Amino acid sequence: MNVYDSARILDAMAALGYEETQEMTEADLMMINTCHIREKASDKVFSELGRMKEIKEARAKTGKQTMIGLAGCVVQALGEEAFAKVKYLDVAVGPQSYHLLPEMVTRFERNHGRQIVADFTSDEKFDTLPSTKARGFSAFLAIQEGCDNFCSYCVVPYTRGCEYSRSAAEILTEARQLVATGAQEIMLLGQNVDCWHGLGLDGVHEWGLARLFEEVAKIDGLKRIRYTTSYPVDITDDVIAAHRDIDKLMPYIHLPIQAGSDAVLKAMNRRYTVDQYLKVVDKLRAARPDIAISSDFIVGFPGETDADFEKTLAVVDEVRYAQSYSFKYSARPGTPASLMRNQIPEAVKVNRLAVLQEKLLANQKAFNESFMGKSLPVLFVEAHDGQVSGYSPYLQNVHVTTKAPLLGQIKNVKITRASASSLSGDVI
Ligand code: SAH
Ligand code: SF4
Repeated sequence: MNVYDSARILDAMAALGYEETQEMTEADLMMINTCHIREKASDKVFSELGRMKEIKEARAKTGKQTMIGLAGCVVQALGEEAFAKVKYLDVAVGPQSYHLLPEMVTRFERNHGRQIVADFTSDEKFDTLPSTKARGFSAFLAIQEGCDNFCSYCVVPYTRGCEYSRSAAEILTEARQLVATGAQEIMLLGQNVDCWHGLGLDGVHEWGLARLFEEVAKIDGLKRIRYTTSYPVDITDDVIAAHRDIDKLMPYIHLPIQAGSDAVLKAMNRRYTVDQYLKVVDKLRAARPDIAISSDFIVGFPGETDADFEKTLAVVDEVRYAQSYSFKYSARPGTPASLMRNQIPEAVKVNRLAVLQEKLLANQKAFNESFMGKSLPVLFVEAHDGQVSGYSPYLQNVHVTTKAPLLGQIKNVKITRASASSLSGDVI
């Protein structure tokens, strides 16, 4: 989501004549797009700001002015007061108001002082942003923002606000722009993407996600559709059927379970039991037997016992995830879980995470090894030092050593090596 937002920030600033640079020392405006989801991500912001200050001072010695900016959820969560202290910060904008950045930057340049905005204006944001373009062969497209689920550990409903679905017309226009500028693959994004309910093309009725897939799949030149993140029990039968019926929809689903114990899931305010989750997995596999499933996990949620944690390991054994993201529970200010008394000691969290990750990696390795000697269609997106890399339908990273110009193409690759993190092989 932040990668998407950063691209849209670049679109917005292009209107003022700004261009992207990879060199911090060249930048007239340096911006960090921040994440507040876990403490670690949030903490990094202040050390990064310090680094930017040094660059700003070094540039000042050569007569160059530099603006320092901050965007994203940390701004939203900490608010104006927190940044009032950081005197060298010039502009700060929350995730739902970055369309205002050009105006804020202009006002700052005209000596109207520091600019900080943290409003929730999703509809206005998408109405005002200039058109976008693909910045590679695979592009993100946010179809939905915010979240109404209020899982007890999560800051998203507070930082990104309540759920908002963009209209089908708006999404399709943006998808066509992305394809016209080189995207072969589009990843549709939403915090709870299965409850997307944007206005349909008739301008009267709302559509569901499966209907949107159908329409996006009609775009000529678009080869692959992906989407994330699915809330396990919000997936509708027509979305499951779409995995069987729509060729362009890739056989991959991110289905975060978070924990394998019903008691922990309840305390997390997740609206499903492990049984219900496993039924969704079964239905997906019945519709599309080869579908790759990935998940997020949180270990050490307040009150999680050893027996609860064992249940998470059991789910991993049962589902056999193709990929996964796992985290130590991080107490976030303002969330109900942060006030629970039965917080888990850090050492226990560290230990559980290591045990879980070992099992997840073994699963991932087994999944990748099952493709040895087989052929996979790979969309090539990156080239480095004689190696071209891309993604299989199952979102595996695949490398090929070749000088052939493969970028932006889908080619069949015979897999000759497999590890937990990637595959390699030869183009057939
Ligand atoms: N909407 C998605 C998740 C978005 S946040 C969903 O509900 O699945 C991405 C992931 O960050 C979550 O799935 C969760 O595993 C993790 N996460 C969120 N808050 C966290 C916290 N306080 N501590 C640790 N991990 C957290
Ligand atoms: Fe956070 Fe996801 Fe729960 Fe929404 S559904 S509150 S984004 S974890």
